[in-house]
Amino acid sequence: MAEPESLNAPVASYVPDANDMEKQAAHDKMMAHIRIVVDQAPPLSDEQISLLRELLSGPKPHPSRFRRWQVKLSCGHGLPTESLDDNPPQRALDCTECGAAGRIVVAFQPLDRSGEPQPDPTTAPRLPRRRTRAELEAQIADLQAQLAQQRDTEHP
Ligand SMILES: [Zn+2]
Repeated sequence: MAEPESLNAPVASYVPDANDMEKQAAHDKMMAHIRIVVDQAPPLSDEQISLLRELLSGPKPHPSRFRRWQVKLSCGHGLPTESLDDNPPQRALDCTECGAAGRIVVAFQPLDRSGEPQPDPTTAPRLPRRRTRAELEAQIADLQAQLAQQRDTEHP
């Protein structure tokens, strides 16, 4: 599934919109359904609990494997978070500002090692302008002339 354009956006200026509220409502509905399914599931056996405990207590990843992000939640609050390796941040988090649970991430931006947002792609220096056909043809002619000259000096 393609990520919406808003997700990798500068967090400070992003304002959650109606589309984000629709996604939050769908997320809330899905979480309510999961809660019902979990509440109706039979209790775990001692063996299952033991297996889960073993799976969850594995070695912790090295801190260098974590990537830091600034995220904006559907409630409009921004907060820092982490993800492992190159994974994007979680899809939903509990907001530490307003206490709302399970707010979806509507925008996120990678942070550098000092915790500062990495440059905004919309204000980052742009690549040089695209050259015209005439300029490219002139460069090709120049390179061909240099190549011919080099051949003449190597094989007089
Ligand atoms: Zn909030």
